[in-house]
Amino acid sequence: MGAKPGWFARRGMRGRITDVKTPILHIAVPSPLQRAFDYRAPPACNPAGLQPGVRLRVPFGRGERVGVLLELRDRSEVPAGKLKAAHALLDDAPLLPPDVLALVQWASRYYRYPIGEALATALPVLLRRGHKGRIAGVKEWRLTEAGRTVDAAQLRRAPRQLALLQQLRRHPAGLPREALEATAATLRALADKGWVEEGERPCLEAIPAEPEPAPLLNPGQAAAVAAVRAGMGGYGAYLLEGVTGSGKTEVYMQLIAACLEQGRQALVLVPEIGLTPQLVARFRGRFREPLAVLHSGLNDRERLCAWQSAAAGEAAVVIGTRSAVFTPLPRLGLVLVDEEHDASLKQQEGFRYSARDLAVWRAHRVGVPAVLGSATPSLESLHNVNLGRYRRLHLPERTGSARPPRVGLLDIRRQPLDSPLAPALQAAMERHLEAGGQVLLFLNRRGFAPTLLCHECGWLADCPRCDAHMTLHQRAGRLRCHHCGHERALPPQCPACGSPDLLALGRGTERIEDYLAARFPDQETIRIDRDTTRRKGALEAQLARATEGQARILVGTQMLAKGHHFPQVSLVAILDADQGLFSNDFRAPERLAQLIVQVAGRAGRADRAGEVLIQTHHPEHPLLLQLVLQGYGAFAEAALAERQAAGYPPFASLALLRAEASGREVALAFLEKARDAALALGPGGVQCWGPVPAPMERRAGRYRAQLLLQAPERGALQQLLDPWVLQLEQLKGARKVRWSLDVDPVDTF
Ligand code: ADP
Ligand code: ZN
Ligand code: ZN
Repeated sequence: MGAKPGWFARRGMRGRITDVKTPILHIAVPSPLQRAFDYRAPPACNPAGLQPGVRLRVPFGRGERVGVLLELRDRSEVPAGKLKAAHALLDDAPLLPPDVLALVQWASRYYRYPIGEALATALPVLLRRGHKGRIAGVKEWRLTEAGRTVDAAQLRRAPRQLALLQQLRRHPAGLPREALEATAATLRALADKGWVEEGERPCLEAIPAEPEPAPLLNPGQAAAVAAVRAGMGGYGAYLLEGVTGSGKTEVYMQLIAACLEQGRQALVLVPEIGLTPQLVARFRGRFREPLAVLHSGLNDRERLCAWQSAAAGEAAVVIGTRSAVFTPLPRLGLVLVDEEHDASLKQQEGFRYSARDLAVWRAHRVGVPAVLGSATPSLESLHNVNLGRYRRLHLPERTGSARPPRVGLLDIRRQPLDSPLAPALQAAMERHLEAGGQVLLFLNRRGFAPTLLCHECGWLADCPRCDAHMTLHQRAGRLRCHHCGHERALPPQCPACGSPDLLALGRGTERIEDYLAARFPDQETIRIDRDTTRRKGALEAQLARATEGQARILVGTQMLAKGHHFPQVSLVAILDADQGLFSNDFRAPERLAQLIVQVAGRAGRADRAGEVLIQTHHPEHPLLLQLVLQGYGAFAEAALAERQAAGYPPFASLALLRAEASGREVALAFLEKARDAALALGPGGVQCWGPVPAPMERRAGRYRAQLLLQAPERGALQQLLDPWVLQLEQLKGARKVRWSLDVDPVDTF
């Protein structure tokens, strides 16, 4: 996209530039305002040669920012005399290609997020800050030849050096400095011995010398691959539905292989990569072309490295979390979204986009297939199948000899309170352990207990900043708020009455772990949750121990539930299914059903018969019964009918305006004005609900409230949002609250 001819036509005639119609640069600059800004070209830069997608340094307010050129215009609303010149051009060629630029612009409008900020979100941090040029690699520490063969006993007296040596042995490819669990002195000591060295790992990953052969597909898989292959070269959206272990990943890989054969790149989006190292390893081992991985655990250089190799067309497969949907891919041929139902594909703060929906948009724009996969598809995607927008590809059964697990509900009413596991569950555990199986216990609550209670006076350990209890973390000796991060030491006695009689109420994973140590003292147990996996590499190490089967009992939160393949797990127990049964969020039943099915899917994946036990106080609850007796498909059908009756998505479109302020009234008053503004605009089919206080009204010391807009279809809602959002910026009180608009919210908290 060059400049329009004619812009410089008069230059030759007069020989002066000033009164010639010089194109104006329309630049997206990070700022809270819902618009882009006009500039003149930087000195000594021919604006006609500029292409959208290049970055420029521009003066902004009293400082300077990095913006992205959106387009050249022939006029500006800013008077010529006031138009500032950009300071410098940062790129010779567009950093963002037209399809990504269009994607971000569309998303910025659809989600009502300022274009400058949206583009900043789409770029790796270093580029956002103005970094120029390619980088060749990232610096990493690794063992030297001598370090690899040294006898660990030599470091008996230097436990820290030994720990570092062992950490690097677990990561033969090397680790960046900040991932090393060592002080500078420890590192130096090992370097002086010649056992560790710093080297540069090239950005482009090595490809396996001998890629894994692909298995022969079963008929269901073959049909799925054939359907998408036939549509390659054009847009098409597919929902690949198959229970855990039915071979979806294998379908992805063979589709990618087909895409690579055509000389094109594949983009794979996953909810949380840290949680799926096995998936990445499988992909890495399969292809003869390099892979790039993009996720939040990378440091800035690592991220830029991977991004650049994708943008240069060198990495043929890009696997990443949400923001990877914005990666430039000059030869994009296929878009895959794994676990498409997962809420973490929607960004929950700032630029609140749905990476899944944007992935489909991008595939449509570029004209390539989009394949969304899940064992438990979202109701949105099922609805799209019903409407004929997506084509359903079904993998009906597990591969090989794996059979579906038996699922049972365990009534835990009137059960002794001191045991978190029903007698029937304990018996089942013994049975499975004796037969050589592994047991996985799922509880979506980390810490020791959800709160602490004074037996004497009833005092509860509440967070001073939130409407929430603080969680007891026994090992750390702390009370922590899981909502705002506030923490304090565990009080030795009740802060209100001085009684030492403090009771831990309820249970978290830490407490289950203690219970297991007493109940099954001979079995190695491993706990996987955010507390045990904070260090870089810790999750991988824990998962390795779980996969290899050393640990016989696995207990954990949703980190354990997603995507992993534990071949020896034969019994899965959900310790508390009741958590999600009575939420007032209309999506809670869907989330609970997905979670239960996903967790259950960890059982009996290989040749062991699996068993799933669900502990509940509500064994007659229709949702649980339906799931257990009829499965996810029947549940989803019923849930869709309910949504339709209630006028909820996917049969309606929602936008949630959230506001928070230092006082309750301030937040509510702002939202009331916002509602009145919407009503005054003549909302045309859009209904306003509220404002009401948020389900957890006070969080981190601020009061939160929300206003819900509901429309029977997207168009009506978007039409109202256009003028409304501009008015919101101007509303009286807008500066006293922090507000944000969430289009297509995935939760209403
Ligand atoms: P999903 O992604 O649906 O959970 P996977 O693709 O991981 O399923 O497949 C489950 C297991 O079955 C994996 O160990 C995989 O290697 C194996 N598998 C998948 N497809 C086949 C096939 N056609 N032949 C043999 N093994 C297969
Ligand atoms: Zn007390
Ligand atoms: Zn708090």
